[in-house]
Amino acid sequence: MQLQCALVGNPNSGKTSTFNQLTGAKQTVGNWPGVTVERKSGKYKKDKLITIQDLPGIYSLSPYTPEEVISRNYLQEASIDAVLNIVDGTNLERNLYLTLQLLEMGLPIVVAINMSDLLKKKGIQLNIDKLAYGLGISVVKISALKQQGMEKMMSTAKQSAKKQAAILRYDPRLESALAEIGHQLPADLSEAKRRWTAIKLFEKDPLVTQEIDLTPLQQKEIAETIAIAEMIFKESSDAILVNERYGFIEDLLSLAVIRQEDQRLSISDNIDRLLTHRVLALPIFAFFMWLIYYLSIQTVGTIGTDWVNDVLFGSWIPEILDQWMNQWHVAQWMQELIQDGIVAGVGAVLGFLPQIFVLFFCLAILEDCGYMARIAFVMDRLFRKFGLSGKSFIPMLIATGCGVPGVMASRTIENQKDRRLTVMVTTFMPCSAKLPIIALISGAFFPGRTWVAPSAYFIGMAAIVVSGIVLKKTALFAGDPAPFIMELPAYHLPQVSSVFKSAWDRGIAFVKKAGTIIFAACVLIWFASSYDFSLARVTEDQSILAAAGRLMAPIFAPLGWGTWRGTVATITGLIAKENVIGTFGILYGQTGEISESGNEIWQLLRNDYTAVAAYSFLIFNLLCAPCFAAIGAIHREMGDSKWTWLAISYQCGLAYCASFVVYQLGHVLFEGGSLTLGTGIAVLFICGLIFALVKKPIHQTTPTIQVIGGSK
Ligand code: GDP
Repeated sequence: MQLQCALVGNPNSGKTSTFNQLTGAKQTVGNWPGVTVERKSGKYKKDKLITIQDLPGIYSLSPYTPEEVISRNYLQEASIDAVLNIVDGTNLERNLYLTLQLLEMGLPIVVAINMSDLLKKKGIQLNIDKLAYGLGISVVKISALKQQGMEKMMSTAKQSAKKQAAILRYDPRLESALAEIGHQLPADLSEAKRRWTAIKLFEKDPLVTQEIDLTPLQQKEIAETIAIAEMIFKESSDAILVNERYGFIEDLLSLAVIRQEDQRLSISDNIDRLLTHRVLALPIFAFFMWLIYYLSIQTVGTIGTDWVNDVLFGSWIPEILDQWMNQWHVAQWMQELIQDGIVAGVGAVLGFLPQIFVLFFCLAILEDCGYMARIAFVMDRLFRKFGLSGKSFIPMLIATGCGVPGVMASRTIENQKDRRLTVMVTTFMPCSAKLPIIALISGAFFPGRTWVAPSAYFIGMAAIVVSGIVLKKTALFAGDPAPFIMELPAYHLPQVSSVFKSAWDRGIAFVKKAGTIIFAACVLIWFASSYDFSLARVTEDQSILAAAGRLMAPIFAPLGWGTWRGTVATITGLIAKENVIGTFGILYGQTGEISESGNEIWQLLRNDYTAVAAYSFLIFNLLCAPCFAAIGAIHREMGDSKWTWLAISYQCGLAYCASFVVYQLGHVLFEGGSLTLGTGIAVLFICGLIFALVKKPIHQTTPTIQVIGGSK
């Protein structure tokens, strides 16, 4: 059977390659009459009855370029049995625009998706059955370069030859305008030709408008129809058609194409099913946090910290300084200030830098890969149960770095009551400055117990949850939670540079603080711990600091750590939480020895406190009022002093109660302590807490339904 096939496609879609494959490059090249645009024609090498015409590459059939005019005229006039529409599969949207115009002409078309070898590489999955269904014609995949799919394309072309393609339908309002225009056209036109002419007239195609013979009345009718459509669509008629075609393509592609990003999304969906699972989400999160603390405080980070403590600040720096100061005959008191005050204090704080770096490196990985966003979502489910929204979790997440931006992040919460509540509880999260306290206590008192360090994180969260439940039941904070809408980003591999930068920034901030505020505080602490009120040089026990500490220590005695040193460390922690460690470094490091390693300080600490007392100390310092900078942020966000004082009092009160309960009960349960009045009070505290947790809220959050005209 003789068959005339035409290759039509966008420039660079692979027409020439296809043509050469089909014809064995024995094409005849000729010129189209009138214009110098090349036309190639040849015989299909596997069936010489099939002639293949290669038309110029075109983007559309609008008659704006000579190539477009030639192609259009040829397609209209030559008796073509099948159009082989070569489509670049990697650029479907633009290529299919031409396909739609070919379909509008009512030609028998086979769509050949070329470059199919590149689809996989570009992460595009194409369902050609769906594409064929949507277009109403046959679609095949080919690769002209790899010589794939050529025979299938030709056999499909043979089957589809001379069969008119189904008519595509656009927006019904446009279709009715096209039908109106169609009524004005000569009666002898075929349905396909009528529709195509109507489309061209609607587009105000100059060639068709010129060629078609219409009466002035018909022209007027058509012009009116177009004007009405333009009014309805609020666009020019050609723009209406362009939009309709692209709209059609968009719908079609959303049906038939899966891109890798979409696939990634579905992989994300599957991971999410596990990570945000109703039951498993929290245990998985707990495991990740445990792992992070384990890595940073117990293993990887510790290697660095041991080196900084034992080698850098334990021997190198003190020895070098000692040499220099002796050479320069520095006064004795100055030598002591530098060694026992600054090196011991600032050194104790800086020692934790490697652990902080590892912790933030791990947290940044969780954040960068998209996991933390899921946790906000999981927390929303949990928080919502007690009336807070997941929005409150974001400030808390930020507060794991530093309480100041954490408190400031609460601004995104519109509801004032929720915002105040969030500001009040956000700093319960352990920030980077509290990390050294956690590391010191877990290292000195709980060696090998990997639960101790992450427990600080969970105590912080538990304090937030419990506070949320209890405070939401008070008139001050009652109310429905704000809706929480958050877009969950697709999971992706964390970027090393951004993760490293995040950890680096935290580390630098920590070092800067150690070099400024902690440095100044260490000088003051050393002074107050070396002199008495008459400014005479005394031992630590007779110093100003000891006197002040002893005055306040009884307050903390019920918590198990009411020594003057523990008291002073806690109070200096208000300036900056790192000071707790700086103070310990100075007070427990002053033994006259120059090289004071971490382990020796640990031993001295163990002489002063029991393990339960140390844990109670940790809890108090974790939950009590934050540093001055964070208190300032709380004041700014609360807007007045009354609320700020309320927040500080609440934080200190909760810290005291939690510490008290832990020490009083822990001492009896784990350290063989005898039952005392304190034990009874601790039990009462717990009962009170349980009551507050289960008590009915004063405000019913579920709406009450009023039945109009109901009885009573
Ligand atoms: P035309 O402008 O439509 O005639 O396209 P050509 O046949 O000249 O091809 C344009 C470019 O695409 C050339 O570099 C070809 O090598 C390349 N090409 C054509 N078909 C394929 C294919 O199936 N796979 C790949 N990877 N490249 C192709």
